[in-house]
Amino acid sequence: MKVDYLIVGQGIAGTVLSYMLIRQGYQVMVLDSGSTYTSSQVAAGIFNPVTGKRLVKTWEADKIFPFLEAFYTGMEKVLGAKLFYPMPIYRPYKTIEEQNSWTAKTSSPDLVPYTDTQVNNSAYSKFIHNPYGGMLIKHSGYIDIPVMLQAHQKYLIDQKSYLQKVFTYTDVEVLDGQVVWQGIQAKKILFCEGTYNTKNPYFHWLPFEQVKGELLIVHIPGIQLDHIINRGIFILPLQDDLYKVGATYEWDNLTWETTKEAEQELTDKLKELIKVPFTIIDHQAGIRPASADRRPFIGLHPEYPVFGIFNGLGTKGVSLAPYLAHLFMEHLNKNKELDKEVHINRYFSLYYKSK
Ligand SMILES: Cc1cc2nc3c(=O)[nH]c(=O)nc-3n(C[C@H](O)[C@H](O)[C@H](O)COP(=O)(O)OP(=O)(O)OC[C@H]3O[C@@H](n4cnc5c(N)ncnc54)[C@H](O)[C@@H]3O)c2cc1C
Repeated sequence: MKVDYLIVGQGIAGTVLSYMLIRQGYQVMVLDSGSTYTSSQVAAGIFNPVTGKRLVKTWEADKIFPFLEAFYTGMEKVLGAKLFYPMPIYRPYKTIEEQNSWTAKTSSPDLVPYTDTQVNNSAYSKFIHNPYGGMLIKHSGYIDIPVMLQAHQKYLIDQKSYLQKVFTYTDVEVLDGQVVWQGIQAKKILFCEGTYNTKNPYFHWLPFEQVKGELLIVHIPGIQLDHIINRGIFILPLQDDLYKVGATYEWDNLTWETTKEAEQELTDKLKELIKVPFTIIDHQAGIRPASADRRPFIGLHPEYPVFGIFNGLGTKGVSLAPYLAHLFMEHLNKNKELDKEVHINRYFSLYYKSK
């Protein structure tokens, strides 16, 4: 079998990249181990252009957010699955100082398109502690990741472009500028392995700084929330009075198991935020493939350009993947320069040191 690209991994990264390549007419084969221990299986799927306590606009938001909306709505049509849920994020102020400083910040030209301080706070007061009011973030929402992964896998299977298999590095042969793996000949292999990159002999030198995250699925009857709420934690509405509540950040205990400590942390924060009772239905944990400098890892191997990587999406896979997959495609197929902030050549010195 001959393809243009063999893609290893079908999380958010491999899904978005393979979908784009196929839509551009390239022959693709996607391989995934089928493991349930992946970051994408746990992700809440939120996209949010203004984050953090200091209310900072996401890197390249003016390019990334219009791009993601067009991408996911187009993907919905092609895959015939509902995945794009645009909705504002309500951020209640914690203190009067926060109210003052955030209100001032939202009037900066940078944040005006993404924020709104004209909010009907009393609509939230019935179930949320918001004595100082709050503000809205616009151009936000969430992607139903499990639905996206499943619908795309079906699309790949229908085109005979999917194999559920673990990629074994020892079976790789490089011949005349092409690469062969278990009978599949490809122009390039693109690795989208998330946290499993640590085992990859071609790219293990990249400085990942993985971050564990846990979230709860809770039942909150009767509040009929149709916005995301964010203050220290997020509350994301699902269906049938169910909500995702998260997430924690843990740099040391990098296992896929849920912990009592995270459950306690999330429960305490939720009790501080809402006025109504809730019941925990489920608890999930995952590890985010984050990088030391908080920028993704994209590009071709310094010595063996038949291998490429699309990884390091960290906490923002949903918003970063579409725009950056597009840049990577332009780099691969049209030789366009990659943005230097995401290009792995910023770490080539680590590769040469590791040899
Ligand atoms: C609790 C939590 C909440 C989060 N919430 C959000 C959120 O709201 N919004 C957001 O944007 N991001 C969120 N994230 C981050 C998001 O999950 C990641 O950015 C994203 O999922 C990374 O996707 P990925 O495809 O790079 O990696 P992964 O999802 O880990 O996918 C890698 C895939 O590669 C496969 N694979 C690896 N090695 C091999 C191999 N050798 N052979 C075959 N297959 C292989 C794996 O099986 C897997 O399917 C959250 C993460 C966590 C943990």
